[in-house]
Amino acid sequence: MNSLNILVVGGGIGGLSAAIALRRAGHGVTVIEKDPSWSVYGVGIIQQSNVVRAMDQLGVIDTFLGAASGFDAVEIYVPDGTRVARVPTPALVEGKPSNVGIGRRALQKVLGDSARDLGAKIRLGLTAVTLDQDGEGVTVRFSDRGEEHYDVVVGADGIYSQTRAMILPDAEKPEFTGQAVWRYNFPRPEGLDALHVYNGPTGVGLVPMSADLMYMYATTPEPGNPRYPSEGLAARMREKLAAAAPQIRALADQITEDEGVVYRPLEAMMVHGPWHKGRVVLLGDAVHATTPHLGQGAGMAIEDAIVLAEELTAREAPEEAFEAYRARRYERCRYIVDASLAICHGQIGKGPAVDNHTATAEMFAVVSKPI
Ligand SMILES: Cc1cc2nc3c(=O)[nH]c(=O)nc-3n(C[C@H](O)[C@H](O)[C@H](O)COP(=O)(O)OP(=O)(O)OC[C@H]3O[C@@H](n4cnc5c(N)ncnc54)[C@H](O)[C@@H]3O)c2cc1C
Repeated sequence: MNSLNILVVGGGIGGLSAAIALRRAGHGVTVIEKDPSWSVYGVGIIQQSNVVRAMDQLGVIDTFLGAASGFDAVEIYVPDGTRVARVPTPALVEGKPSNVGIGRRALQKVLGDSARDLGAKIRLGLTAVTLDQDGEGVTVRFSDRGEEHYDVVVGADGIYSQTRAMILPDAEKPEFTGQAVWRYNFPRPEGLDALHVYNGPTGVGLVPMSADLMYMYATTPEPGNPRYPSEGLAARMREKLAAAAPQIRALADQITEDEGVVYRPLEAMMVHGPWHKGRVVLLGDAVHATTPHLGQGAGMAIEDAIVLAEELTAREAPEEAFEAYRARRYERCRYIVDASLAICHGQIGKGPAVDNHTATAEMFAVVSKPI
């Protein structure tokens, strides 16, 4: 096997998954993360059946499930608060839950601890300033003026990827979609054993994320991409929920802490051309950032990491591996970005309305296929 010395730029979900997969395959891995405090906002994330399978492939399923809250159904509610369906979701790993909700901080801890335990070096407060390729690898100059030579550099630095700007300056750029998401944590009510999805002009979801916690997301039209000051965010979120189902309005009364509200305009982007240049390759949101309507953005980043490590390990020439990696990933990631955007556009009248239920069932069929 080809053992490579690899730099991963970005210590988020995709970068840490890559560090784990690459270390397991015997490669040397250094991760650089620009945020010196490596902070992650405190709400949760939905990880569906393909992510549970990916965590099994990464060899971290027990710690992952130990930090998460599993569920095997999605309940659909109409705007007046009536439950219209409870849809069982298929598990891809026998004996394990089909989906989970997990706190973003808990997920980062599982992935970060595993990467470190496997021997990845993680350096915080550092970025790559220049990448000089010589055909045999990449000389990286860091923001602390240090310099190092690597066989391969993996850019996992998110939707505004600096690495993408350096190697593919003409690639597609993120675009605001017209919607935003508001999120807030609550104590988990007794009996909440599924993801609850409320359809309507403001799409709302309740996601279990630990034994005692759940989070709410609310997707709202935000024409003109307004900026809301932090002060007053709780009141703004309550206003956005004023016409929601009665059970959601009751929860909205508990939204009182401005600092607890996580507001995020939704952007999307898909790189349709190559995902690498020479010995530098991109993964995750750096090449395909989706809106969260199908809850698959992080899932795609994690799957990218596994496929990239497999291809780099199976092939002598890194550039051949990068092409094989993109060939295996492009269609699935493009489908997730397009299908999520179609739901988003339908909700804000920019396109035909999409039946969420049907779109979600189709998504499960697509992502349950082997990666
Ligand atoms: C509102 C919202 C809700 C979502 N909900 C879900 C969900 O429920 N399920 C799901 O699967 N996905 C969800 N997603 C998508 C998911 O968050 C992303 O797809 C995922 O985080 C992408 O991982 P990544 O590692 O590619 O990028 P990121 O998670 O953005 O990580 C990038 C990392 O790189 C670091 N970095 C940036 N620039 C540099 C640099 N120059 N040098 C070094 N480090 C750098 C950043 O600090 C960060 O740590 C949601 C997204 C949004 C916006």
